[in-house]
Amino acid sequence: MRINEIFYSLQGEGRFTGVPAVFVRLSGCNLRCPFCDTDFTSYNEMSEEDIVRSVSDYPARHIVITGGEPTLQLTASLIVKLHAAGFFVQIETNGTHTVPEGIDWITCSPKAGGRVVLTKVNEVKMLYQGEGTDLSAAEAIEADEYRLQPLDTGDADENKEITNATIKYILDNPKWKLSLQTHKILNVR
Ligand code: SF4
Repeated sequence: MRINEIFYSLQGEGRFTGVPAVFVRLSGCNLRCPFCDTDFTSYNEMSEEDIVRSVSDYPARHIVITGGEPTLQLTASLIVKLHAAGFFVQIETNGTHTVPEGIDWITCSPKAGGRVVLTKVNEVKMLYQGEGTDLSAAEAIEADEYRLQPLDTGDADENKEITNATIKYILDNPKWKLSLQTHKILNVR
């Protein structure tokens, strides 16, 4: 499996915000989002056994499998091994591919240009860019929780406007909850 990085931090976003977690970033993505801030191209080849050994070095037993797009490589056998090692397995996916059986929590973040094939997940997390943001792909997915996250444009003034617009949208549409990138606010990984 091509692994971009494995690191230990707090989950910064969504339902498990603040939870200590081991992140496994798989290399590669099928989309090219203009705002993508993740370098997922470099990698080391690791076996499933290597991955389980590596993540088990950390004290937490919450794992976040992310990318890039992790479903391009993720196998059901790795999930089985992670469960055997005592992990709760969360995946963060753009939803364009099916996910292997057995994952404990699916967070789906649909992106423009990617046709979503997942119909039922635990959590939908959508980036909000202001009025006119198309939420139809997200609304079409059955989920336990729906979260809107203000897009980070890199410009402080613009970000403030987008955050205010996100809050207004949520207040008007209370099916949605706010998700913030708390790792950026705290300046941790
Ligand atoms: S789907 Fe995610 S990882 Fe892939 S290009 Fe878009 S933002 Fe980046």
